[in-house]
Amino acid sequence: MVLKYDLNKDLKKDMDAPVILLQGVSKEYKEGIPAVSNINLEIRKGEFVFIVGNSGSGKSTLIKLMLREIKPTDGKIFIAGKELGRLRRMGIAKYRRSLGIVFQDFRLLNDRTVYDNVAFAQRVIEAPAVEISRQVPKVLSLVGLTEKFRSYPKELSGGEQQRVALARALVNNPVILLADEPTGNLDPKNSWEIMRLLEEANRRGTTIVVVTHNKEIVDVMQKRVITMNKGVLVSDNKKGGYLHEKS
Ligand code: ADP
Ligand code: MG
Repeated sequence: MVLKYDLNKDLKKDMDAPVILLQGVSKEYKEGIPAVSNINLEIRKGEFVFIVGNSGSGKSTLIKLMLREIKPTDGKIFIAGKELGRLRRMGIAKYRRSLGIVFQDFRLLNDRTVYDNVAFAQRVIEAPAVEISRQVPKVLSLVGLTEKFRSYPKELSGGEQQRVALARALVNNPVILLADEPTGNLDPKNSWEIMRLLEEANRRGTTIVVVTHNKEIVDVMQKRVITMNKGVLVSDNKKGGYLHEKS
């Protein structure tokens, strides 16, 4: 049976189920070579979770599985208690639009202004015009870009571009925000600024899952840390600190 539920509506409700649950999840891009292996992971609503690990350890694969950009070869993924594998194309599109997503390379629309890049995310979910004109300035102010609303991405620094991407990810007030190395292209000052904004979004209730290589940030922020090694979840440290592993 295919479910036609509105995941976003489910996510906004109070729930007993974990917001994200992976049960025995494996992904093989090539048969016999697992990129991630038998992952069991439970993330509760309102958590802030770092995913760390060496390059090639399966971090991006985990994020792509949660985004439903790829399907697991084995195992099941539940979002708010509903199995992702049972969503049809429309359901998947709707699910993705309900998420906040941030990548290392910003992925802004270069021919649109800062304002329109952020407004775009609201237009996609068919938000009413009054809501767009209220929300976009609010979220641009939150990320400190009020003065830049007419600028184009090319006219901004890397740190500013990532703040636009973050504003776009937050404008629909997502229950879940997934970020794959959002500070990978940024200097330390801008990296801290992005993390501060993620923490702020988390304080307002968004569940945050963020992949990072930034050891210092992970050590200082004292959040839950999931460590991946060669496709295996090797540690789940509920209270902070980068696992000091030999590579
Ligand atoms: P990380 O984000 O931790 O660097 P990835 O999840 O990108 O790791 O990759 C995990 C493993 O899966 C690596 O061995 C990588 O080469 C492989 N992999 C990732 N994406 C693909 C793909 N599209 N096709 C084949 N192999 C892939
Ligand atoms: Mg990666």
